[in-house]
Amino acid sequence: MGASSSSLAVDSFKRVEEWTSGEARDLLQSYKDLDLDFGLDAASLSTLLKGDDEWAGQLIAAFENGSGGVINALSLITGAAFVAKTSAVDASEIVFDAFDFDETSLISYDEMVIAIISAARGAIVATGRGTEPGDAKVEAMVADAFTKIGKSPSDQVSRGEFSQWVADVLDGQDSDGGLEAAMVAFGLLEAAAKQEAPKPKLGRNADWDSGGVAAGDAKDSEDFEYLSYARLPKFTEGHRSLMAKHLSEELFAKLSGTKTASGYTLSNAIQTGTETPHLGVGLTAGDEECYEAFAEIINPIIAGWHGGYDPTTMKHPTDLEPENLSFSDAQRASFNSYVASTRIRAARNIRGKPLPPGSTRESAAAVEGILKTTFEGLEGDLKGTYYPLGGMDAATEADLQSQGFLFQKPKTTNLLTNAGAARFWPESRGIFHNDNKTALAWCNEEDHCRIISMGQGGDVKDVFARFCALSNAVKVSAEGSGAALMWNETHGFLGSCPSNIGTGLRGSVMIKLPQLNENIELLEKVCDAFDLQPRGSAGEHSAAVGAKWDISNKQRIGFSEVQLVQKMIDGITKIIAIEEKLAGGATAADIEASLAA
Ligand code: ADP
Ligand code: MG
Repeated sequence: MGASSSSLAVDSFKRVEEWTSGEARDLLQSYKDLDLDFGLDAASLSTLLKGDDEWAGQLIAAFENGSGGVINALSLITGAAFVAKTSAVDASEIVFDAFDFDETSLISYDEMVIAIISAARGAIVATGRGTEPGDAKVEAMVADAFTKIGKSPSDQVSRGEFSQWVADVLDGQDSDGGLEAAMVAFGLLEAAAKQEAPKPKLGRNADWDSGGVAAGDAKDSEDFEYLSYARLPKFTEGHRSLMAKHLSEELFAKLSGTKTASGYTLSNAIQTGTETPHLGVGLTAGDEECYEAFAEIINPIIAGWHGGYDPTTMKHPTDLEPENLSFSDAQRASFNSYVASTRIRAARNIRGKPLPPGSTRESAAAVEGILKTTFEGLEGDLKGTYYPLGGMDAATEADLQSQGFLFQKPKTTNLLTNAGAARFWPESRGIFHNDNKTALAWCNEEDHCRIISMGQGGDVKDVFARFCALSNAVKVSAEGSGAALMWNETHGFLGSCPSNIGTGLRGSVMIKLPQLNENIELLEKVCDAFDLQPRGSAGEHSAAVGAKWDISNKQRIGFSEVQLVQKMIDGITKIIAIEEKLAGGATAADIEASLAA
């Protein structure tokens, strides 16, 4: 059976782990042949070990227990039988034979007591586990054994009866554990500390073998393995992403040798879309260079997601000037009566640092460092506090969570986990908010930074102005740290997910629409007509509680920030007018006719 499942505490027994039961038996036979004493000193032990003085010394040291350098030979032999690759029956027979001094294949009650005490000591010394049983305990065991075997204490027990008794005790126990399990069952040995089954690392789909192999990636962490795909994964019907749709055998072959300077590969980029089939985009960028290096697969994804936007021929405008927004006093008044709150968010990433799917502990910490400096430098309305996710006390966490400010720990179903963007969570993550909680920033979630501006009521211009101030502060601070933001003329702001490039901006109002709430199909048609997207009141794919809808711009790229927020303002203005028409008795057909006009 061997103690291979248990870890040996005593190095001097390591070599015995490789022994077969034949070798263990040979040790007993040599002992008998050499006619050595019951107590062995270093010299006689060395003789038994064919002159291996060094090993003899080690074993004496292991067994020594105030015995003046003389050890119990049979403990050593039974300890060896225990550790070697022996079955429970083999090992129990070696124990029996060691104490069958007259070789009659019968042992007495007293011999069995000594056999068990010696074997227990041998096993305990060899494994370093447990404490030696007292004589009384062993005597009670042997008395019980004799009763079970059907013998009186003055009788002798045969070899077969002895091993049958061991087998009976083991019955119902873990028979693979062999003698070790028997000794644990007898209470002679402590069970080995249960070795925690190593937690499967994140990064792969538990239900489906994509063919990805964890071949060792410099970015691997304790909890995550990057997979490498030797060939194009065989996508299933469940794979809905644009990546799965556009990645052909040919393209895969062409790009599979490509690696960015930060070490991001095609396998890295498609891992989340491969292992998390339901994702819509299915590809992540590990750094800014990915948008060039993997353009042949990313560009069709961008076109598919952003209504045909083509970064090879189009330019993306940027406009972060709040004064360019037109928002009349009448609109402000009307918005304030319908809109509960307004929110505008976008992603910002720092050039030269890998994005969360391709980051290292060090690069993520450096990003956090730059952002902390940014947050510390914010003044006036933007002045606030940064809360590192790791160092947050429970009350602060609960408070931030209840207000919907804190991000959730990534689940295995969202893009972050299998992209590797949740490695070493919550290290280097955190959230900033200003004193009146109208300006927020997330650090190292899906992007280096997510900036969020919020406000009660419907003053979109005010919320946008604060958004622009926050955006500018992050830009200035990044530049002050010698780094620019990831941005270019064709892609606008860049980030981990191609769905969030361009402005990366989502400007939303939480708006109460009791009439349109009665006809959600109509609401969707109306939103669609104005390039707006309705979401339930608790975020994407949630229901609308109390007829409250989160309505925002749908596009992200090809329009500037001002244009997108303007579209939202203009669309919401029309939606309010429609809501009022419905309240005044107009029918859905009337509204649809007016949309078509
Ligand atoms: P995003 O992807 O823009 O972060 P989500 O749909 O994931 O948006 O929603 C994030 C959170 O922001 C949700 O709790 C949602 O209810 C909240 N939220 C969105 N728009 C508004 C708004 N105008 N006012 C208040 N909360 C909002
Ligand atoms: Mg979201």
